[in-house]
Amino acid sequence: MPYLRDHVFILKSEPFREHDRRIVCYGKQHGLLEGVARGASARTAKQGGHLVPMMEADLMIARGTHFDKIAVARVVAHHRELRARLGALAVVGAFFDLFIALQRPGIVDPDCYALLEEVLKSVESLPAEPSRERSRLLFAGASLKLLDRIGFAPQLARCALCHDELNDGEFRQLARDGSVVHVDCYRDIRAMEPNAGYVVPQALMIARFLRREPIAASLLLSGTSQSFIDASELIFGFIRQTPLFREPHGMRTIGELMR
Ligand SMILES: [Zn+2]
Repeated sequence: MPYLRDHVFILKSEPFREHDRRIVCYGKQHGLLEGVARGASARTAKQGGHLVPMMEADLMIARGTHFDKIAVARVVAHHRELRARLGALAVVGAFFDLFIALQRPGIVDPDCYALLEEVLKSVESLPAEPSRERSRLLFAGASLKLLDRIGFAPQLARCALCHDELNDGEFRQLARDGSVVHVDCYRDIRAMEPNAGYVVPQALMIARFLRREPIAASLLLSGTSQSFIDASELIFGFIRQTPLFREPHGMRTIGELMR
């Protein structure tokens, strides 16, 4: 039986058959992986039954005809403190769901692996429970970095209609593809696109900051709750237009954060 070894982040664990669990993870060497873990008792712990999201583990996976099985699992880091905090759990959980939905098996990307690492580290460094607005901003910032890494980099610098820079004034975000345009340019196509979202310059500035700076920097960013909400909404507008490779099970969690 062919085996595969990898150092992974556990992204999801869900019931599979009566006593087993299906584990979804992202490996340094192999990208997105799935494997069935036997039971959850101490006896079967070495076969991955104890693996839960956010753990970092060394896995040996046995390739099977119908599904792959986790043959050996050794936990490298538990990240227990993270799982004990509800705010952190919501941000990381929603991010993992989006991450899974945007990944294709067989594509290995060291930048995506590093991003998972960065998200966990940044959320771990939170001094206290972040406000709801800051949690959403954190999720939005991490998601924007993910979109950049998988090639859906949204345009934050130039108008999608006239291609001039988006500097001052007010902007609109088009519902058809999430692109941002000058309010004057929007007037010309308003009849065809009646439902564009409002974008204030500060939202655009915050989104650019989130793209440029490490995720942890969004924890130091000062601003009003409304500016955080506006920036998050702008980024969610991009996420909504991104083609998902699979139905995200946790879209509800993401929806919670997007609301
Ligand atoms: Zn324009």
